[in-house]
Amino acid sequence: MSRLEAATFATIVLAGAIFTFLERRFAYNPGQPVFRTGYWNDIVLYCFVQSYVLGIVIGRLILFLDQHTRWSHLHLVSHWPILGQLGFFIVTHDLYIYLMHRLQHRWQPLWRFHEAHHSVPEVDWLSGVRSHSVEILINQTVEFAPIVLLGAAPEVAVLKGAVSAIWGMFIHSNLNVRLGPVGYLINGPQMHRWHHANEPEAYGKNFSTKLAIWDWLFGTAYLPDPTVSKASVFGLGFKVPDQFPSGYFQQHLLAFRRDMGPIETTPEETQSPVA
Ligand SMILES: [Zn+2]
Ligand SMILES: [Zn+2]
Repeated sequence: MSRLEAATFATIVLAGAIFTFLERRFAYNPGQPVFRTGYWNDIVLYCFVQSYVLGIVIGRLILFLDQHTRWSHLHLVSHWPILGQLGFFIVTHDLYIYLMHRLQHRWQPLWRFHEAHHSVPEVDWLSGVRSHSVEILINQTVEFAPIVLLGAAPEVAVLKGAVSAIWGMFIHSNLNVRLGPVGYLINGPQMHRWHHANEPEAYGKNFSTKLAIWDWLFGTAYLPDPTVSKASVFGLGFKVPDQFPSGYFQQHLLAFRRDMGPIETTPEETQSPVA
């Protein structure tokens, strides 16, 4: 592990501790426990084990792509300043994620791999890590392959990973943050909590991850005055809520079910409670 990797890992761990503390002091939804249902499943299996294993798999996949294309040898962005490279990959990947996220909510085969992410009934800083490994495999390959193949500096991938991790914590955090006019550009907890809300007025809204500008530009933004209306019910809204499995492996296997049975959820065009 390089010094930069060690420093970014420490920063991510520290950020988790800071968000845990801030959620106690400035909660958007007061009363949510630190060790909510699924906490250990999320932090041990999704956050550490899955991230570690997929990091290796995705790294090898990208290496394989590069060995066969040798695109990184063209050094297409190598001469750019590091911050310019980082900014470029943050913005372009964020637009991809916005479009992919909309598709995930519209197309059942992709929705199956996004469902787990919406299954957390108490959204907090940690809950963003609960994402099916297939979803992560696709999105992080699209995130990191261009960085390598376009010949970016090695630090860019490390910094981009850290930015994504901490921004993911931020938008899922149970924090009563009001971004004001900055919220038209930067995504924050209020908009993303509405995305996770199982409330009809928020269905099919707020697909942005880092930059809220996509939602405002493409007409999917929803941000009511928090003194009038706050997102307060989260999760998949199953008729029998306990039927979404609590275990990592069961949550994974559920995506491959043929008969959706009583825990069926449907994408946004069919007025799903989770769209
Ligand atoms: Zn979603
Ligand atoms: Zn989310």
